[in-house]
Amino acid sequence: MNLPLPSAAKLAKPDVTAERPSRSEAEAAVRTLLLWAGDDPEREGLLDTPARVARAYEEFFSGYKEDPTALLARSFEETDGYDEMVVLRDIRLESHCEHHMVPIIGRVHVAYLPKDRVVGISKLARVVEAYARRLQIQEKLTAQIANCIQEALQPRGVAVVIEAAHQCMTTRGVHKPGVTMMTSRMLGEFRDDAGLRREFLSLVKNGAPAPEA
Ligand SMILES: [Zn+2]
Repeated sequence: MNLPLPSAAKLAKPDVTAERPSRSEAEAAVRTLLLWAGDDPEREGLLDTPARVARAYEEFFSGYKEDPTALLARSFEETDGYDEMVVLRDIRLESHCEHHMVPIIGRVHVAYLPKDRVVGISKLARVVEAYARRLQIQEKLTAQIANCIQEALQPRGVAVVIEAAHQCMTTRGVHKPGVTMMTSRMLGEFRDDAGLRREFLSLVKNGAPAPEA
């Protein structure tokens, strides 16, 4: 596959208007990176790499097409008065850091205290995924998940904890494998009630193995 590289003029053009480049432009950009890394994009093993990378990006960054709030639009009121904590533990996190575009791998724990409504638990995992499949920093990701659940369900409280390893820290830069970053966001009763927060954190801690990266 012989894709033309984008012209210098085109590369220099500020993309404030952010017109989405075509697939072949994206593939040409990957070829440029291959050349820049010092390899030969024409050798057999790399011929299809630009196309593969473009497809992988579609998957890694599919969250931009999702509306996370809409995922929670369908909720259920027939709960027979259930108003205790609902906890979803160890949701696998696969995201990419917005500074280096390398993986952030970890786990997300989500809890909420229903008021009148509950959602299907798979929907909570899909909210995590919709935000994770974007370029992220862990702090923002944590806040976005919590805020989205708060807005959509209006529960008495929301708690989100993320523990993750950042490959920009484990495989480059300071090279510190085994280091994980923890972030949390507590809203409503989780923010006000230290006992509740402790209960959530102990539910989450019991048995969660360290994330691999
Ligand atoms: Zn990074």
